[in-house]
This record gives sequence, C-alpha cells and structure tokens, in this order.
Amino acid sequence: MPERDTTVVIGAGAAGLMAAIWAARSGQKTVVLETKAQAAKKILISGGGRCNLLPSVVSESDFFSNSSDNVLKRLFRTWTLEQMQMFFEYEIDVPLELESETGKLFPAAQKAIVVRDALQRELVNLGGEIKFDHQVTDVKKMNGEFVIACSHEVVTATKLILATGGKSVPKTGSDGFGYEIARRLGHSSLANYPALAPLTTNETLLTDLSGVSLSVEWSTYKSNRLLEKGINDLLFTHHGFSGPAILDASHWVIRDKAELIINFTKKSAEQWRDFIIEHPSTTTLSLISDIVPLRLAKAIIEKTGVESSERVGNLTKDRRKALIEAMCHYKLDITGNRGLAVAEVTGGGVPLDEVNLSTFESRKTEGLYLCGEILDVIGRIGGYNFYWAFVSARLAGESTK
Ligand SMILES: Cc1cc2nc3c(=O)[nH]c(=O)nc-3n(C[C@H](O)[C@H](O)[C@H](O)COP(=O)(O)OP(=O)(O)OC[C@H]3O[C@@H](n4cnc5c(N)ncnc54)[C@H](O)[C@@H]3O)c2cc1C
Repeated sequence: MPERDTTVVIGAGAAGLMAAIWAARSGQKTVVLETKAQAAKKILISGGGRCNLLPSVVSESDFFSNSSDNVLKRLFRTWTLEQMQMFFEYEIDVPLELESETGKLFPAAQKAIVVRDALQRELVNLGGEIKFDHQVTDVKKMNGEFVIACSHEVVTATKLILATGGKSVPKTGSDGFGYEIARRLGHSSLANYPALAPLTTNETLLTDLSGVSLSVEWSTYKSNRLLEKGINDLLFTHHGFSGPAILDASHWVIRDKAELIINFTKKSAEQWRDFIIEHPSTTTLSLISDIVPLRLAKAIIEKTGVESSERVGNLTKDRRKALIEAMCHYKLDITGNRGLAVAEVTGGGVPLDEVNLSTFESRKTEGLYLCGEILDVIGRIGGYNFYWAFVSARLAGESTK
C-alpha cells in the first residue's frame, strides 16, 4: 500500500530527476513515473550527445516568458549558476568543462549519458524509485490525495510534481499529455509552438548551400522594430536554415512572425561603402569571398546579378547598394519551420502566474507542483533550458517537505 507521505513525480526528464532528488533529500518517500523504458532521453540527445549542461553566464534576458523578467531574476538567485555547478561537480560527481569559444559547459567526459546516470544514481542512493514503462494516463485529486492512473497500476500520492516537459521531439516521451494533466488539475496553457526550431525556405539559391556554416549577425524585426539581435553560427540545410543563430532567432519568427535579417559579414553597410571607395580595383568575388565561404560568396553575387570579375569601383550605385544589402542586410525568405518533431523546446505552456514561484506549488490545486519545460519559459541555446529545468525543479522538490 502506498504511504500517505509519498511524493510522486511524473516524468524522469531533467526536471523530474532533479525535483525527485530534492524531494528525497528533504525526507520524502519519492517515486518517479516514467513513460519510457529509460530516464531522460532528451538529456541523452542534448548537445549532439555531449549535453550542453549549463551556460557559464546567466541573466534573465536569456529567457523568454510571458511573465516579467523580474520574476526570473529573483528566481535565479535561489540556485545560482555557481551553486548548480558545485552540485554537479562535487555532490554528484560530474566534472564540467568550459568550451571557451561558446561559453558553454559540458560534462568533462563529453558524454550526455554521464549526466543522466549521475542524476539517476543520486536519486536511487537517496532511496528514490523510478518506475519505468509507467505512462500516466489520468490524475484526479480525491479526499486530499492524488490518484494517478498509469499503464500498469494506480498510484496514490500526497504531493505530486508534474515534470512532463513540452511537446518537442515526442519520441523521447514528452508528447504534450502533461498539459492535459495540468488542465485536468485546473490549469490553463498558453498556445504551444516549436521554439528553437530550424526554419525552411523555398530559395533554392540558399538551400543549394546545404552544409555551409558561418558565424553571422542576426536580427529580428517586427513592424520595423528591432526585437532581438545576436551573433552566432548559421548552417544552411536542404530545408533552409539551422544552427544556433537560427534556433535562437526562430521563436521570434515562429511566434511573432518577425522578419529575420542576416549580416553575413558582421560589418556595417557604412564600413563596406568606405572599403569599396578605398579598394576600387577589388573584384566583387574577392571582396565577398575574403569574408564568407566561397559557395556563399557566389550565391550572393548571383542574387545581386553582378559579375564576379567586376571591379567594385566600376559598379553602378544601384548595384553597389544591392551587393552591400545582400552581404549585410539579407532578409531570409522564410516559408515555415521544421516543427515540434525536431524543435529543441516547446514555447508556451502553463503560465508562471498559475504557480507560486517561491515553491512552484500550483495556485490551482494544493499539493501539486510544476517544473521544467511544461511551464511558459524557454531559454536560448547554450544550456539555458537545462538551467531552467533544474532551478525550477529544485524549488519544487524541496518544497514538497
Ligand atoms: C535535440 C535536443 C537537444 C537539446 N540540447 C540541449 C542542450 O544541449 N542544453 C539545454 O539546456 N537544453 C537542450 N535541449 C532542451 C532540453 O532537453 C529540455 O529543455 C529539457 O530536457 C526539459 O526538461 P524537462 O524535464 O522539463 O522535460 P523532458 O526532458 O522532456 O522530460 C519529460 C519526461 O516526462 C516523461 N513523460 C511525459 N509525459 C508522461 C506521462 N504521461 N507519463 C509518464 N511520463 C511522462 C517523458 O518521457 C520525459 O522523460 C535540447 C532538446 C532537444 C530536443
């Protein structure tokens, strides 16, 4: 018979495992129910199998939510990046290594499985249990207890932590049913959309560049207002565009229908005008190919209709303008995105104002806690999504005591 003081966690992902560890550390009998036959499939595929566990710097501006930035700022003080790093390195024995070019932290072993196994080991050492192949199909609260129907059995709990993730890459087990469980327990959910998702185009001039990658400056605009800009790598693909620059920009394009402008050269139009005046005998091809990969340089030349052997000093004013525009103000013709099947995270979800952010307890159902991607917070590329999962999970787990 289940005991009355059992804390049940639904979902053995990054947030669920962390929440369970902190619930067990605070003395709760802790049981995790997981759909899949193993824990945290998303950790395993994260960072290309290396797991970009954390960023090296964090600020509220690295996250997007319909809640105010101030809420996040206060939250991040409850478990700072440094404290989280100490937890991994010294408490669960996952040494971390900084990738200096990107500022990302990876496990020193460069293997995601090390992170997943360490979290799971810590939970089991604390007496916590994970029940695999336990897909939760319904939850009700009756007589002060949660009655949780799974594929094989019915489990009861006094405290329930919902850590079912979002809807992205559903083959990992996060199929969006968690939103339905939240709804059955009184919550709403903001419309979901693929965030951090590759974008598509019909512009064959660019899809023909599949495999070309370079660092660019990207900016997103809505009604001529700059929403966000950044510098990161763009990868051309058969479908369109991917890479960290595109993933970071994608949620503005997908959610806000923003325009995405790329500066392939990271120099301003002004600087290029001056350069051309100073170097009139340079050919158009050598001007661009000194800065970007040759295949892209040729595509830009084709796009603007100039001759590759033409000297820049001989270009008409209009052609010079078109060339500079294509180099540093290229508006990507986006037709769509690759969808939730490949998006790294799901935008939208349960609004933050439906939980008490000191404890992550639901404001709708007493004894219910929510953490991780199911909530309306997304982080940019760079370990920010795991940071969010962990910071929210620790508070939720600890608060069940
Ligand atoms: C390809 C890819 C690469 C990524 N790389 C990174 C990275 O390097 N760094 C980073 O910070 N973020 C990365 N992310 C994002 C990160 O993986 C997620 O933000 C994070 O895993 C969310 O944690 P979570 O625990 O909230 O949800 P999830 O990790 O999705 O875990 C939810 C768990 O709940 C289980 N579950 C769902 N419904 C039920 C149910 N009804 N019953 C029982 N169990 C259920 C699922 O099977 C799953 O195990 C990546 C994502 C993808 C897809």
